[in-house]
Amino acid sequence: METISNIIGGVLTPSSSERSAPVFNPATGEQSAVLPLSTAAELDAAVAAAKLALPEWANMPPLKRARFMFRFKELLDANTDRIAAAISAEHGKTHADAVGEVQRGIEVVEFCCGIPHLLKGEFSRHVGPAIDTHTDRQPLGVVAGITPFNFPAMIPLWKAAPAIACGNAFILKPSERDPGVPMRLAELFIEAGLPEGIFNVVNGDKEAVDAILDHPDIQAIGFVGSTPIAEYIYGRGCSNGKRVQCFGGAKNHMIIMPDADMDQAVDALMGAGYGAAGERCMAISVAVPVGEKTADALMERRVPRVESLKIGPYTAGDDVDMGPLVTAAARDRVKGLVDGGVAQGAELAVDGRGFTMQGYENGFFVGGCLFDKVTTDMDIYKEEIFGPVLSVVRAKAYNDAVDMTMTNPYGNGTAIFTRDGDAARDFCDRINVGMVGVNVPIPVPLAYYTFGGWKASGFGDLNQHGPDGFRFYTRTKTVTSRWPSGVKEGAEFSIPTMK
Ligand code: NAD
Repeated sequence: METISNIIGGVLTPSSSERSAPVFNPATGEQSAVLPLSTAAELDAAVAAAKLALPEWANMPPLKRARFMFRFKELLDANTDRIAAAISAEHGKTHADAVGEVQRGIEVVEFCCGIPHLLKGEFSRHVGPAIDTHTDRQPLGVVAGITPFNFPAMIPLWKAAPAIACGNAFILKPSERDPGVPMRLAELFIEAGLPEGIFNVVNGDKEAVDAILDHPDIQAIGFVGSTPIAEYIYGRGCSNGKRVQCFGGAKNHMIIMPDADMDQAVDALMGAGYGAAGERCMAISVAVPVGEKTADALMERRVPRVESLKIGPYTAGDDVDMGPLVTAAARDRVKGLVDGGVAQGAELAVDGRGFTMQGYENGFFVGGCLFDKVTTDMDIYKEEIFGPVLSVVRAKAYNDAVDMTMTNPYGNGTAIFTRDGDAARDFCDRINVGMVGVNVPIPVPLAYYTFGGWKASGFGDLNQHGPDGFRFYTRTKTVTSRWPSGVKEGAEFSIPTMK
């Protein structure tokens, strides 16, 4: 069985840790690899390698750094299927979904190919007598990314590509559940000719994360994962003086207005609720039909659709809509929450708890579940389920649906389905959620916009990728110079002004 190594200084480096975790194929339930959980000393070694490589990389003309990005992008294009297969084997998502994930990562790399333009500063001539001012965006130094299991290629790329393009050296601490995928990315960085030490991978768990949080030579940390861990990382990282951005969990509401195109809304809810078995931070987990008639029409159309979801292993290709959950623990947790929903009085219109599949009896599958008449005091409403479970919460009026979305602690994504431009505009203006869709169920912004949630879904003031990605991984220096230097004004003891 494969034992996964680290990548330190561009070299495959076996871990000497005495602790390890199993990696599974979620479709079969079989263990596929052993992941040593790296020690703080191994993180130190990665930081040392990054520091060694840093000066030359940080001082390289951005155009030359962009050329690495171009080569890396071409390699990602050529290896998309191979990376997607690695994702599906450890995460369980379908091949088409895994290909889409890689593509969303590639698009950020593509954006980073424009780094010379993106790093351009500002210049003002003649701010005073023979005085000019310009700004310069400089890299931070050694930076780290800590990433979740549900997008093992895309999110590491969202973190690493902008950081590296800006001239930083990067250390990735991937999820321990699907660590094989970032190793494929590391191989391609090496093949693209990236200098040794600029992209490092340190596998592990809390010990490696804490070592990152406390390391005096790590300047910034980008995290994506669940909200409790996001809060912890934000607090400890900031108190250690680092720049930190953390993206947390979600409970995304989709409001269906009485005038919505119901066929479109039902189609949208299928992919948004059950794609990747609901293991997406932008999945719709709460549908809020406005009015009883809308709710009844929605349920009538949804029940047969959820019952006929095609569930199976990624190896079945296009015959599958969704795969298993990532681990047995995730499956058991989701089933437990569904049990709780029934016990608390929600109507389970489609029950996927008993799903089994011949030949894959040990896989971590749960069938699609659909709850009706959920109320906001129930655990299935309050908890992020992160599984193929959709809760329908009936709202009497538009304002009730909006209030519910606004008082929910999470604020990652939301959507409204309507033909009413007034309602759509009001919703976009008022809603306190970071990413909003109008007749678009999963409004994930493209690479040249920024991605990030509000409230308990995001900590820190800058988003991921797009212009914020470059702001997060650089700091601004403002230079004021006088040429010719010999302009005589005499000694000045008060603060210079333009008065
Ligand atoms: P997680 O919080 O369990 O793990 C994320 C990372 O934190 C992993 O690298 C893990 O090793 C590390 N970690 C876990 N426990 C830790 C601890 N006690 N101390 C220090 N580090 C720890 O999240 P997950 O289960 O891998 O991913 C799913 C979660 O991520 C969901 O909540 C989902 O909504 C969220 N997510 C959010 C976004 C977003 O952009 N907002 C995107 C994807 C996923």
